[in-house]
This record gives sequence, structure tokens and C-alpha cells, in this order.
Amino acid sequence: MDDSCEPVDQSDDDKVGLKKSEMKKLLECQVCNQIFITPFILHCSHTFCKKCVMEYLRKNKKCPCCEKMIIKPPAHNRHVCLLLESFTPYLSEVETAMLNLRKLEHQQYFEEEFKKFENMVKSAQENGTKFLNIERRWSTEEKRIFRIGLERYEGRELELYCNLTGFSKEFINTSLPPALIIAARNVDAQIPQSSQTGINYDLLRDILRDIMTS
Ligand SMILES: [Zn+2]
Ligand SMILES: [Zn+2]
Repeated sequence: MDDSCEPVDQSDDDKVGLKKSEMKKLLECQVCNQIFITPFILHCSHTFCKKCVMEYLRKNKKCPCCEKMIIKPPAHNRHVCLLLESFTPYLSEVETAMLNLRKLEHQQYFEEEFKKFENMVKSAQENGTKFLNIERRWSTEEKRIFRIGLERYEGRELELYCNLTGFSKEFINTSLPPALIIAARNVDAQIPQSSQTGINYDLLRDILRDIMTS
């Protein structure tokens, strides 16, 4: 087997002869049978539109393709996103218009979902529901409960969910080291050490931001 890492021979850098219809098929979601919109991947490696997979997983805890049990939330498939970006300019005017219309529908769906989530939070607050406080040390059980939400939500919903505990961008940017350490332990974040100064707080802030925005 040739496993050398020599640079690619430019004379061998030919275009691959894939037909548009073949490429389109490869970039098709198995739930809606159309080109992916915001591709999300499951840990079984199957990819779907974010909306298609999120809706499906509400009722089923299995992959729509291979039926493997889903134990981790789906994640952005950035690789397929890049492929889509280079492929969509080849679509016809009608196909592009259809795609844009579907993009708008998916966007509206998530806007509505976010509104529902916001309303749920509002009514919980009005009913006096107590939320965890990021500045206090959490028990193992509290950490476990918080993690369920971390895995369930993403994007704006995830940020709002974190903000309910006081875990906000402002908290991360302005808190002093002791509060940051407590927060990091609460959310099971890795605490980065640097050889000269002990804990690397700039990096810790980045890690905490990543948890909130992943
Ligand atoms: Zn789909
Ligand atoms: Zn699968």
C-alpha cells in the first residue's frame, strides 16, 4: 500500500467525470429526497437536512436510513456543506428557485421552533421555575440534567438554554477566574493548563464559548 505523503502531481489533477444528476443524487437527503438543506450528520455517518432529521428524531430514536439507535445528537456536516456550495451554482434557474424556496421554508420552521421554545421558557419563568445557577457548584445529578439540554439544543436555543443558568457570553467575558473554574466544572469543560502561568484563562473562555455555541 502506498501511504507516502508526497505532494499531488499537478498533471494528475484531472476533473472527475461525474454527471450533474449523479452528483445531485449524492447530495440528496433520504428523508425528503431532495438536495440537502443545512446538512446534519448522525453518528452512524448518515446525513440529512437538519429539519428532516430533527423532525424525524422527535418521534423515532433511530436513523431514518440504517435504523441504528441514536445516542448522540446530530451535528453539522461541514464537509457536505462545502460540496453543496461548489455544486449549487450548476443548478438550473428553476432548480435554484426551488432550492431557495425550500431554504426559506426550513428557516421559517426553525424560527417558529425557536419562538415556541422562547414561550416555553417565558412561561416557566412566570411560573417561578427555579433554574440552576452557573456560579454555584452543581451536584453530579445537576450536571447530568444540564447536559441533557446541552445535547438536545443547538444554535440560538442552546444559547438561551445556557443563559437561563447565568451561563452567558457576558458571564464568560467578564467573570473572574474563580467563577470561571466553577462554571467549567459544572459543565464538565476541560481546564487548560499552561506551563508558565498555571491555568490558561483565555483558552478556558474559548472552551466555554464553544460549549454554548456548538
Ligand atoms: Zn431532507
Ligand atoms: Zn444511519
